Amino acid sequence: SSATDTIRATLFPGDGIGPEIAESVKQVFRTAEVPIEWEEHYVGDQVDPRTQSFLTWESLESVRKNRVGLKGPMATPIGKGHRSLNLTLRKELNLYANVRPCYSLPGYKTRYDDVNLITIRENTEGEYSGLEHQVVRGVVESLKIITRQASLRVAEYAFHYAKTHGRERVSAIHKANIMQKTDGLFLKCCREVAEKYPEITYEEVVIDNCCMVLVKNPALFDVLVMPNLYGDIISDLCAGLIGGLGLTPSCNIGEGGIALAEAVHGSAPDIAGKNMANPTALLLSSVSMLRHLNLHDKADRIQEAILSTIAEGKYRTADLGGTSTTTDFTKAICDHL
Ligand code: NAD
Repeated sequence: SSATDTIRATLFPGDGIGPEIAESVKQVFRTAEVPIEWEEHYVGDQVDPRTQSFLTWESLESVRKNRVGLKGPMATPIGKGHRSLNLTLRKELNLYANVRPCYSLPGYKTRYDDVNLITIRENTEGEYSGLEHQVVRGVVESLKIITRQASLRVAEYAFHYAKTHGRERVSAIHKANIMQKTDGLFLKCCREVAEKYPEITYEEVVIDNCCMVLVKNPALFDVLVMPNLYGDIISDLCAGLIGGLGLTPSCNIGEGGIALAEAVHGSAPDIAGKNMANPTALLLSSVSMLRHLNLHDKADRIQEAILSTIAEGKYRTADLGGTSTTTDFTKAICDHL
């Protein structure tokens, strides 16, 4: 393809194992001839007053301009006077939905063989905002804010996702029997959006029942959409169903179609710099990014190469019970391409 077809994307290699697994993505993209040119940005070593965090203003501008990016794990700096990196990204880029595909990897045995679901988490409000204070000694209060605007926005994204990804059902997860006003409003918004998508089956599942069904028979679920805190918990539960955080990709969707894909795991300081990290989660996140860009051919090829490498079982990293290095595993994927 010509230089004019090249898409610019922001890459945050991140901390710890981040640069090692980001290198793996770069190598796989080169081999698959993905027409992407990376703009690399690192977290600064001091607080940028314009973002009040260690994230530089330039790096945020890069994502705003490119509208698409991939983020490695970032270690949370300790100390006062700055905002958390992930919170800064979420707020500055208005990343309102967190999308996590979760499917069983053929050949990697877990308790379940047929998981194939997507969790879509509202990312901006609810209990997770941490709006808490002490009323008087011994009494504290937490504000759970749910708005029509944010609920409609995430519901709309979930149904649109289902429709454009060949999915058949959207389940709204809630506790509206107790949280009648807040979760009630969330459900009302989901219902409104559901009416615009008659081809998608819509159902409402109470969160406690949802947990029970997820561990008994996760194959019963397709697309799940839910408020922030429930999404935080359920999406990790789902990651556990398929083998853990080293395998789970995610993508954050922002206003105006921004997509920032990221692995779910952290910077793994215990294995950083040892060429031991499993790049699968970041690689599958980069596949999510390609799908967002409608580069489905490249996405399919890369996903296929990752899955066959794992299924073959010859090259696996230590977290999956193998002895391969990050570079050997990456090379095996490239050979599959
Ligand atoms: P972690 O996910 O970094 O590590 C937990 C365990 O999982 C470790 O034993 C680690 O070796 C292993 N692990 C994680 N990813 C792996 C991979 N790709 N391959 C092989 N093994 C892997 O969690 P933690 O130790 O709680 O956090 C470390 C740092 O990461 C902290 O500074 C934390 O704030 C940060 N963090 C960042 C993000 C993010 O940027 N989204 C998410 C979680 C944690």
